[in-house]
Amino acid sequence: MISKQKLIDQNRISSVGADEDSPAVLVNGHFDSAIGSPGAGDCASCVATMLEAVRLIIDSGWVPPRPIIFLFNGAEELFMLACHGFMKSHKWRSTIGALINIESSGTGGPDLVCQSGPGPWPVEVYAKAALYPMANTIAQDIFPHIPGDTDYRMFSEDYGDIPGLDIILLLEGYFYHTPYDVPENIMPGSMQIRGENLMALLKAFSGSSNLLNARDRAALKSEASVEVERRAVFFDFLGRFMIYYSFNMAVVLHTLPLGFVLFISSLASYESSGVHFFPQRILLIVKVAKGIQDLASSKHCCSVDPFLWKYRASEARCNGSGGSCV
Ligand SMILES: [Zn+2]
Repeated sequence: MISKQKLIDQNRISSVGADEDSPAVLVNGHFDSAIGSPGAGDCASCVATMLEAVRLIIDSGWVPPRPIIFLFNGAEELFMLACHGFMKSHKWRSTIGALINIESSGTGGPDLVCQSGPGPWPVEVYAKAALYPMANTIAQDIFPHIPGDTDYRMFSEDYGDIPGLDIILLLEGYFYHTPYDVPENIMPGSMQIRGENLMALLKAFSGSSNLLNARDRAALKSEASVEVERRAVFFDFLGRFMIYYSFNMAVVLHTLPLGFVLFISSLASYESSGVHFFPQRILLIVKVAKGIQDLASSKHCCSVDPFLWKYRASEARCNGSGGSCV
């Protein structure tokens, strides 16, 4: 039995036998707000979710298999100075094996995974674990081109290579950074969904075999046999389950319609004008199919389950669960 005092070291909830170098999961949220805005959504909602997650972990007696660090940072609205300071100077910065950055650009959820990586495994964990999934590769493609930024960039791109997720509340965005970002305008249910998703992700990430500290990540990258895995393709289906497949699988799946079109056009050509184009088109189709087959049988294709799904849990799951709701 671990005492609560021993379990909590500053803002880190330790696992059994954890030391200072153990790979940890970092949950990041900011408590400052834009000038003139009360900041209920951005980002008191993040702080409240994190505090409730800490309470639930401690009160439930769950001891995470790996340490979990809760970083309540300030100055996000001032060029992300606080997380920059953490990544430049904090003693735990090189122990972070995965990042969950929670943010808001609105007051309603479910919250959306707008960025992920480096590598495909954070989204794979999300696809398996999220109770209310909302994620889309297209959102990740669009995000760098819109005028918005989050702490995620500091941790995973500019001052670190921490694999992680950037998860934000998006709905009711017209309250964002305005005097109307007040608790009364938080959409009902948003906080519950955000909290349940966070708890599910904490359990999944802290138990992941991919969780490595910075030193072990660097050692893995330096191995000549290890190639960088391309980002996966993922999207939710109406918030009910996730569809997820690797980049190489995407090449196969997204090329199949081309083969189908070539085949149909070849048949049409054969019927309308004789056989002179038909053999060439059949040969082209065979070549395309052979290329797809070679790709599919390559070392890294389909190295993860091509399809993962997680059905939404019962709406009534929290009722009577003895404080498991956040
Ligand atoms: Zn924010």
